[in-house]
Amino acid sequence: MFNDFMIISGPCSVESKEQVMTTAKQLKDLVNPNYFRAGIWKPRTRPDSFEGIGSKGIPWLKEIRDNFNIPVITEVGCAKHVELILKNDINAYWVGARTVTNPFSVQEIINATHKKDIEIFIKNPVFPDIELWTGAIERYLNAGFKNIYAIHRGFYPYEKTYLRNIPMWEIPIELARRFPHLEIICDPSHIAGNTKYIKEIAQQAINLNMAGLMVETHYDPQNALSDKNQQLKPLELKELLNNLNFKKTNTDNLNYEQELKSFRDKIDSNDYKLIEILQNRFTLSDEIGKLKKKHNITTLQLDRWKEIVESRLKRAENSNISKDFLLKILQLIHEESIRRQNNIINK
Ligand code: PEP
Ligand code: MN
Repeated sequence: MFNDFMIISGPCSVESKEQVMTTAKQLKDLVNPNYFRAGIWKPRTRPDSFEGIGSKGIPWLKEIRDNFNIPVITEVGCAKHVELILKNDINAYWVGARTVTNPFSVQEIINATHKKDIEIFIKNPVFPDIELWTGAIERYLNAGFKNIYAIHRGFYPYEKTYLRNIPMWEIPIELARRFPHLEIICDPSHIAGNTKYIKEIAQQAINLNMAGLMVETHYDPQNALSDKNQQLKPLELKELLNNLNFKKTNTDNLNYEQELKSFRDKIDSNDYKLIEILQNRFTLSDEIGKLKKKHNITTLQLDRWKEIVESRLKRAENSNISKDFLLKILQLIHEESIRRQNNIINK
């Protein structure tokens, strides 16, 4: 593992003093994480689930911080939570996925955060709306906070998948493009929903150059009051970290540099060809738009569209391009053609 890779770990929720102490002791001995995490106020979707122990848990977190010398972090959902954790020197906080969806709440939490150098972790909103995530980060930046991290915890799946939340990796990638200095931490526990899938998610996060992991751990996950299927034991976290393949972002190996450059030059020229091909294709489809206008014909020609999809997918059968991918590209192109033809026809 690399030295600056951040590990945040601890139970989903604070349940009892014994539970957090035992978990923290094991974590300290086995993993020595950068932060001990535990939720005391739990924003649960349904009111009949365990909603957290509340401020009663604060002294226990302080005891963990002092006895084990681990910074502690918890979730805040309103100004009152922020006041309580700052008053008690809890080291950091995260804003949860349900809270980030509400800009009023985010602003209220920011206004209550008088300590500007505290580390703040902003989870992605439950729904795949990158603007809400970006907006929350911008609110913190505008208020002068410097130590901001994003946490990628996946998105609510409209269709059932084997994961609890779908990662939609393109969204944290786009976030990284928008904020090149922002460190993104992955929370594979809430993406996976089950300990079985944590490793594959964590490895993907490493491959995408994320800055750390937030992994839920509990000394006795079977009896956890929340998220029991996704919590690892501290020893399992240690094994997971030993089994992940940590990567460098770069190397000064000359051969690598040269080979990479020669591939990248070819990719560049292919991308430029692709732009030219698309341009030609859209020019042709604009001509068809004019023809349809002249003869008063509908933009959508379903039979032609069906034929395009079938023939192109068939053509790609023996290539190494996946059908799903090709279909997406065709749909994008078709959508754009229709938009352009409609413009011509409606003019
Ligand atoms: C949590 O970290 O336990 C939690 C509630 O996460 P999220 O806000 O990502 O659902
Ligand atoms: Mn949880």
